[in-house]
Amino acid sequence: MSSVRPAVVALRAGRERSLVRRHPWIFSGGIAGVEGRPGAGDTVLVEDDAGRALGWGAYSPESQIRVRMWSFDPTDTIDDAFVAGRVVRAAARREALLGSGTDAARLVFSEADGVPGVIADRYGDTVVVQLTTAGAEAWREVVADALFSLPGVRSVYERSDADVREREGLGPRVGVVRGGEPNPDLVAHEGPWRYVVDITGGHKTGFYLDQRHARAAIARLAPGRRVLNVFSYTGAFSVVAAGNGAMSVLSIDSSAPALEVARRNGAVNGVDVGELMEADAFTALRGLRDRARQYDLIALDPPKLANSERQLEKASRAYKDLNLLAIKLLAPGGMLLTWSCSGAMTAELFQKVVAGAALDAGRTVRIVDRLTQPGDHPVPLAFPEAEYLKGLVLEAE
Ligand code: SAH
Repeated sequence: MSSVRPAVVALRAGRERSLVRRHPWIFSGGIAGVEGRPGAGDTVLVEDDAGRALGWGAYSPESQIRVRMWSFDPTDTIDDAFVAGRVVRAAARREALLGSGTDAARLVFSEADGVPGVIADRYGDTVVVQLTTAGAEAWREVVADALFSLPGVRSVYERSDADVREREGLGPRVGVVRGGEPNPDLVAHEGPWRYVVDITGGHKTGFYLDQRHARAAIARLAPGRRVLNVFSYTGAFSVVAAGNGAMSVLSIDSSAPALEVARRNGAVNGVDVGELMEADAFTALRGLRDRARQYDLIALDPPKLANSERQLEKASRAYKDLNLLAIKLLAPGGMLLTWSCSGAMTAELFQKVVAGAALDAGRTVRIVDRLTQPGDHPVPLAFPEAEYLKGLVLEAE
């Protein structure tokens, strides 16, 4: 077969509209035909039904999202320099953040940085990369080289073990990609605090960089308060609360390894992180309610409870139960910081669910602030799907 003409994905009439608005996804149902035999991750030229070239994308034969766009300019060439350039420019956009009291930031956020399927988080001299799509997988070496070339980076570690890879027909892959073995005592620095980052065994890439705004908010709100940190993971919120003069801190998580890191985080920062409770949050919250416990500041940051729109109804019930229990535990004037990180749940629906919880709890509750993902997890106006973290700061009467 000649390699002169690239594989072409031809869209059905009308299905070019989202592309013209620079939305980067092409679903299998929007495709009229495929010319050539593109393999997983191959670059394809995308054309409208009249044969007009619209741009270039990565082909993903097993995914419902069949093509993810690299470029909306048909005159671009998708090569090593193109992909490396995207990675390096994304990292450059985080330079100001990384120069402002932290050495930990998301360098590359997938579609939001024009590199679909590539996530890279930096912790000091270490970068943790996660590839989630066939297109990202195809450019693995180029992405790794680009990340390793960044000033001060000494190690690139891969955590491509997210479930979403299955939808792309990809198995898990974990390990050192460039440089040395990761430092087992790696810490992220943020303001005066240090957080142990378990990049080999932790969730995601080891730390919840996306809750940076929340850590700052808790620092302001914690002094003198009785704090309850539900779904605490490695206790980042607990460290901030304890370190900023909380009266008491209770952390609840079902993961013993996460709580062990929480304990280490207390030690590393020289603060008493308070009580660490290994328990199911739903059960633990009911137990606290039955004992009529009261808190002045509660953080409620559950894992993604809805993976898709099909799971929204069930997830809404779980979010409501959790928020109902939490609101009941609030002392008069107490504050609840509550999140949904499910992309499938809109901010509007989440607010409705929490409103239902407040109603059932019989409390008057006001939104006094909102806490979303920070700027190193940007949301392109053309790709609102990048927005996933929705948080409400609530005050109960
Ligand atoms: N707020 C944390 C991140 C929370 S991630 C931070 O900023 O670091 C969600 C956490 O929920 C994970 O640590 C996971 O172990 C925990 N988790 C999941 N299901 C749970 C359950 N049913 N009960 C308690 N914890 C649970």
